[in-house]
Amino acid sequence: MENNTQLKEMIRSMVIDVLQGQKQETASSQSVKQVSRGQEPGVFDTVDEAIRAAKEAQLRFEDCTLATREKVIADIRAAMRPRVQELAQKTVEETGMGRVADKVLKLNLTLDKTPGVEDLVTECETGDNGMTLYELSAYGVIGAITPSTNPAETLICNSIGMLAAGNAIFFSVHPGAKNLSRELVSELNQVIAKSIGIENLIVTLREPSIESAQEMMLHPDVSLLVVTGGPGVVKQALQSGKKVIGAGAGNPPAFVDETADIKKAAQDIVLGASLDNNILCIAEKSVVAMRQIEPQLFQEMVKVGCVLVDNQQDIQRLVDLTVLPNGTPNKQFVGKNASVILDAAHIPYNGDPRLIILRTPKDHPFAVIEMLMPILPVITVDSFDEGLNVCLMLEAGLHHTATMHSLNMERLNQMARKMKTSIFVKNGPSYAGLGFSGEGTTTFTIATPTGESTTSARCFARRRRCCLTTGFNIR
Ligand code: NAD
Repeated sequence: MENNTQLKEMIRSMVIDVLQGQKQETASSQSVKQVSRGQEPGVFDTVDEAIRAAKEAQLRFEDCTLATREKVIADIRAAMRPRVQELAQKTVEETGMGRVADKVLKLNLTLDKTPGVEDLVTECETGDNGMTLYELSAYGVIGAITPSTNPAETLICNSIGMLAAGNAIFFSVHPGAKNLSRELVSELNQVIAKSIGIENLIVTLREPSIESAQEMMLHPDVSLLVVTGGPGVVKQALQSGKKVIGAGAGNPPAFVDETADIKKAAQDIVLGASLDNNILCIAEKSVVAMRQIEPQLFQEMVKVGCVLVDNQQDIQRLVDLTVLPNGTPNKQFVGKNASVILDAAHIPYNGDPRLIILRTPKDHPFAVIEMLMPILPVITVDSFDEGLNVCLMLEAGLHHTATMHSLNMERLNQMARKMKTSIFVKNGPSYAGLGFSGEGTTTFTIATPTGESTTSARCFARRRRCCLTTGFNIR
């Protein structure tokens, strides 16, 4: 009887061993299949496959030390730096938007100033009852949606911040930047695997689409959505029922009053508004100028590379070309050089102008629509109060970005308070608010609708409380 039981137990454990062996073999052959079939690590055919792989990778990653996270981020920065010029070139080729030299600046900024693990600051309370810690820990797999306007910058910036917080990332990229984004995800995967031996911490799809982005939004293994794009995709994500960090559109005005250093204001505005042909969400989209300094402001802007269009017929031709009847920008001209738009409108110019400037009323399509083109309308006002109200109207409650050029402290403060924008720049180009020639870290995901503002690693982490009831109070 006893022998019989022992025999049964032996057979049972042999069967379990065989079955477990088969399971391990299947799993390892599947992962080999994925790598050899994919040729591009981290690139998958279906949302489910990609998220499953990212989830497995994240479980391994969350057991790693903070030093490991620091290492992987340092290795990403080092590996991407020599790739900046090529990434910039490929982005312009694929999307048809922006300028290579400007994208180089944006990519270097991303590598230099996106914060890593140091951004996860621990809080601690102690007292007679012991100690309570507040720590920022990983969400798991983050679903990150990236735009066509800064595809490589957003992907690298999000990767650094989200990995710093211990997450894995599924990137749902814009179909208009799919080749560049797929190659970049694959390259980052290779850097990470070489650095810390974990594959698939960053994943994407071979063929991204709006439908697959929506499938990802509803996937049960995606814990947080981080959406960088226009108002439509942010609205879509908010309907998912998940936690969303939504970085949506802006329409930043630049106010110049009569106390400003007009020459500097003109230079700063042109630098900010023309960066990458105005496709940044934070870039100046209109200027509101006090009447007495308006002529000088135009003169100074022309001196630093703007073409002034002051003939009403030319202005109307520009509108007909660049604004569709439904009131949206004509994609054919989004992010194009000013010369391309001027050529199409048969307006003469010299050299390679950075910006087209023109006088418009405050309700002109160029002022109220987020054009994402190097066309900058200038609206004249007679008082500070009128100017502030026009800026509020143009910003349209998006609370994204605004700038002001003035030497009047009271007005600077009043406008900063009233605009309630995530970024407010005083006496500088808009990009100073991204830490470029301004203090502070950088980000390419400015979450205005959901309130996180300039995002960093700490936004991509769950705040948890850990309480010890005895000791550790040494006061
Ligand atoms: P977009 O909204 O067309 O696309 C952004 C991303 O969302 C893409 O990956 C796209 O495939 C996806 N998408 C679009 N509609 C979707 C839907 N209904 N469901 C699921 N996914 C969807 O934006 P774009 O043209 O690539 O980028 C420009 C816009 O993004 C501008 O409005 C700009 O202001 C904004 N933007 C904002 C920030 C920020 O930090 N706030 C940064 C960059 C760009």
